[in-house]
Amino acid sequence: METMFKPVSAKVSFPKIEEKILRFWKKNKIFEKTIRRRPKTKELVFYDGPPFATGLPHYGHIVPGTVKDIIPRYWTMKGYRVERRFGWDCHGLPVEYELERELKIKDKKEILKMGIAKFNEACRGIVLRYTKEWERVIPRLGRWVDFKNDYRTMDPAYMESIWWVVKSLWDKGLIYEGYKSLHICPRCATPISNFEVAQGYEDKKDKSVVIKFELLDRPGTFLLAWTTTPWTLPGNVLLAVGPKIKYIEVSGEKEKYILAKEKVKEVFGQQKFKVSKKISSKELVGKKYKPLFNIAPRGKKSYVVVAADFVSTEEGTGIVHVAPAFGEEDLLTGQKEKAAFVQHIDMDGKVTKMLPKFKGISVFELNDRVIEDLSRRELLFSSFDIVHSYPHCWRCETPLLNYAMKTWFVAVTRIKDKLIANNRKIKWVPSHVKYGRFGKWLEGARDWAISRNRYWGTPLPIWRCDKTEEIEVIGSIKELEKKAGRKVSDLHLHKIKNLTWLNSKTGGTMRLSGEVLDCWFESGSMPYAFSHYPFENKKWFEEHFPADFIAESIDQTRGWFYTLHVLATALFNKPAFKNVVTNGMVLAEDGQKMSKRRKNYPDPEKLVREYGADALRFYLMSSAVIKGEDLCFSEKGVVNVLRRVFLTLWNVYRFFVINANVDQWKTQVEIKSKPKKLDLWILTRLNETVLNVTESLEHYDISQALGNIPPFIEDLSTWYVRRSRDRVGPTAVDKEDKDLTYTTLRTVLVVLAKILAPFTPFLAEEIHKNLTDDDSVHLTDWPEVRTRKVLDQELLKQMVLVRKICELGHAARKEAKIKVRQPLKSAKCKVQSAKLDVELLQLIKDELNVKEIIWQKKKIKEPRVELDTEITPQLRVEGEDRELIRQIQQLRKERKCRLDETIDVITPRLPHNQGFVSHATIARDFKKGEKLAIKK
Ligand SMILES: [Zn+2]
Repeated sequence: METMFKPVSAKVSFPKIEEKILRFWKKNKIFEKTIRRRPKTKELVFYDGPPFATGLPHYGHIVPGTVKDIIPRYWTMKGYRVERRFGWDCHGLPVEYELERELKIKDKKEILKMGIAKFNEACRGIVLRYTKEWERVIPRLGRWVDFKNDYRTMDPAYMESIWWVVKSLWDKGLIYEGYKSLHICPRCATPISNFEVAQGYEDKKDKSVVIKFELLDRPGTFLLAWTTTPWTLPGNVLLAVGPKIKYIEVSGEKEKYILAKEKVKEVFGQQKFKVSKKISSKELVGKKYKPLFNIAPRGKKSYVVVAADFVSTEEGTGIVHVAPAFGEEDLLTGQKEKAAFVQHIDMDGKVTKMLPKFKGISVFELNDRVIEDLSRRELLFSSFDIVHSYPHCWRCETPLLNYAMKTWFVAVTRIKDKLIANNRKIKWVPSHVKYGRFGKWLEGARDWAISRNRYWGTPLPIWRCDKTEEIEVIGSIKELEKKAGRKVSDLHLHKIKNLTWLNSKTGGTMRLSGEVLDCWFESGSMPYAFSHYPFENKKWFEEHFPADFIAESIDQTRGWFYTLHVLATALFNKPAFKNVVTNGMVLAEDGQKMSKRRKNYPDPEKLVREYGADALRFYLMSSAVIKGEDLCFSEKGVVNVLRRVFLTLWNVYRFFVINANVDQWKTQVEIKSKPKKLDLWILTRLNETVLNVTESLEHYDISQALGNIPPFIEDLSTWYVRRSRDRVGPTAVDKEDKDLTYTTLRTVLVVLAKILAPFTPFLAEEIHKNLTDDDSVHLTDWPEVRTRKVLDQELLKQMVLVRKICELGHAARKEAKIKVRQPLKSAKCKVQSAKLDVELLQLIKDELNVKEIIWQKKKIKEPRVELDTEITPQLRVEGEDRELIRQIQQLRKERKCRLDETIDVITPRLPHNQGFVSHATIARDFKKGEKLAIKK
C-alpha cells in the first residue's frame, strides 16, 4: 500500500535520526543555502568570540555555542542573512603554557635557551591542534557555523589590524607606559591584567604574622605591624599610621609595644599586657625604626613612620608595613613619600642578589624562611595560619604576586564616562547584567595593562630610541617595511625583533620594545581585525559594525565583552555590539567546578551519542544557565527532556502518521465542514504559542521563548489528541470530520516544527520533512501571526473551564472508585459562568463518560462537580462491553495488529452489544472460549 507519509516507529532513536539529518544537511548544503537564499541587503551581524583550540569543546563552549546557533537560525527564518564566521584565538599565555607543559619547560630562561624563534614556531604548531575535533564536534551539536572562512588571531592580516588599533589608541593619547603595581604570575613571569586577576580567586593557606619594628630612639619599644605576605618584608621601607587612629603603648613582660588602641585585645589574645600610655599618630610620624633587613639604597627616605589615609583598623594592628615594590597602596605611598624602592624579587619569583642571604630561592619558600629568620632574631610577635581568598593565575594556577613594574597601559579610566554611556545603548539578556555585573565593572574600571613580557603574541608595535627613550609606534606592515628597509611578511616577535633603524634626530637606534599584547586585546580587536580593517573591506566594515548580536558566558563581562567594549569606545565611541546574550556557568552535578581530573561530569559527546544533541540543547536552554545563573549539570535532566517533551511530541506525530496512512489521507483535500471548537482551540493555542515564542526571540530571550513549548506539546497530546482519537482511523466514520482532524493536526505539527527549528534543529527537520514537500524546515519562513487580537480569548478561557471540570470529575470518580470505562448517568457542574455550548459539553461528556451534564450556575469561586454514581443495569452492561473493548485493544497492541487489521475474538463472555464492540475493535467474529484471545 502506498502511503502519503513515511512510517514512524515507536522505537525512536533520536541520535540515529540526527546522524541521518547531518548527512542530509551536508549533502544538500542546507546551511549554505540558508545564508545564500537570504538577501545581502537584509543582514543580521553576528560576531563570534574566538575560543582557543588547544583543548576540546566543553560545556563552557556548548552553552553559548547553542545560543549562537538558535538566534541566527531564528533570524534566518525571519528573512535575514546571518553570516557565521568561526574564529580561533591563537596567541597568548594559554598556548605558551600548553607548550611549556609539553616540553617540560620550567621557566623563561629555558625558553631563551631554546630560542624565541624555535619556541614561537612550536607554539604555532600546536595552536590549531584540535581544530579538526572542533569541526567534528560543533556541527554534531547541531550548530551551524562557517569553518571554511574562519579567522585566526595569528594571521598577518589580523595582526596588522591589531597594530592599527594600537596606533590609533596611541594617537588619541590613550596608551602610556607606567610604573604600576600589578599582579604578576611568577611562573609565567608576566603581568596579568586586572580582569584576568578577577577570574582566578581561590582559597589559599597563608601565614598571618605580626612583626616587631624597634624604634631607633627607644630601644626595647616596638611598633607592631601585620602582614599575610612575609616575603614582602625585606622590601619594607616605611611604616604607615592612620591620622585618625588612636594609638596606645602597652607593656608586656620585658618589652613595650605600640599599636592601635582598638586592636590591643585582638593582637594580644591570651598574652598579658599593661596599658602604659596613649599616643597620637602625630607623635609617631617621622620616628625612625631599625630595618628588618637593611638593604634599601642610600639617599632616599627609608625605615621611617609616615601617615597615610588608607590605613584602617579593620585588619591587623593599625600600623601598616609598606613595601612600594609589592602593592598598589604601597607603591602610591612610596611615590608620594619619595621613599626608597626595594624589589628583592625577580619577575620569575626568585630572590635577587639584593638579598644575598636568600638569593635564588622562590618567593613561596621565602615566606617560611623570613618567618624563621625573624623569629630567631626575636622580631616575630605572633604567627598563625589563615585561609583567605587569594588571586591565582587563570592559566597555570600559580598564586599571583603584587608587583610594581613598568608596563604599557590603555588609559581606560580616561574614557570611563563614555564606556558607561555606551553601555546604555546595549541590550543585555538577562537584563540585570547591564547595570549589575557589567555596569559595576565599568564603574570600577581601571587602566588596562596590555603588555605581556612573553613571546607568542602580537608584538607591541613600539620602537624606542636607545639614546633618548623616544617612542615611535608603527601602525602597519607598510610603515614597518619603509622604516626597516626590507620586506616583512610575518609580524611575530622572532621575525621582527631585530628590525631597527636610525633615529636621524638623535643619532640613536630605534629598537623594538619587545613585549607582546595581552591576548584579550587581540580578541577585543576582532571586529576590525577579522576583516583586515582598515587595510581592506572598509565599506564592508562600516556596514557590519557594531554587531547586532553576540553571546558568551557571564565571565566574559570581565573578558571579551569588556575588551570589545573598551576598544570600540576608544576607537569610535560606539558600543561593539547591540544585543548580547550571556549565560551562567555550568558546574558538575555536585555543585563543584567541572574537572577533567575528577571526572565529575558526563562527556558531552557520549551524551549526544546516547540521547542526541537536541535533548542536550533543550535541557541547557530551558535551565537556569540561560538566565545567567549557575547550572549543576545533571544527566537526568537530559533524560527528562527526552521523556517528557520529545517522546510526547513523537507520539503525537506518530499518531498522526499511522492513522493518516491507514486512512489513505491526502494533504490536498478540501475541507467542507466547519471546524469544531476543539480544532479552533488547538489552532488558537498554536497561534498564541507562535506569538509568545516570536516576541521572546525578538528580545533574544531564549529561556522565555522555549518555556512556551512544553505546555503547548502537553496541551496537544493530553487534550487535543486525546479527545480526537475517535475521530480518525478505521473505526471513525465521519469522513469530513476525519479530514478536519488531519488537516488541523498536520498544520499544528508543521508550525510546531518551524518554531522548534532554532532550538531542536534535528527533530524539527525530521517531522517537517515527512509532513511537507519542502527541502528543509530551516529554509522556510518563520510562521507569522500578525496580532494577538486574532486569538479567541473566550474560547481559551472556556477550554480551561472544560478541562477543570474534567479534572474534578476524574477526581470524583477516583474517590467513588469507579473506573472511567464505566458510563455514568450524569455529572452535576456547579459553576459561576454561563452554560457552555453543546460541543464543549460533549467534550466533557466524552472525557468523563457520562450521559448528561447538569449545569448549575452558582455564585462560587471554584467550580464543583458531583457525579450520579448509581449504576443501573443498563449502564453496567455498557461498562462491561467497554472493559472488553479495552482488553481486546490491549491484545491487538501486543500482537502488533495493523490499525485496520480485522480479527476474530475468543472470549469467556460474549459482548452484550456485539455491533458496538466489533466496530470498536474491528472484529469479524466472537466465539466463546476459556480465555480472552484474538486471531489475526
Ligand atoms: Zn601563570
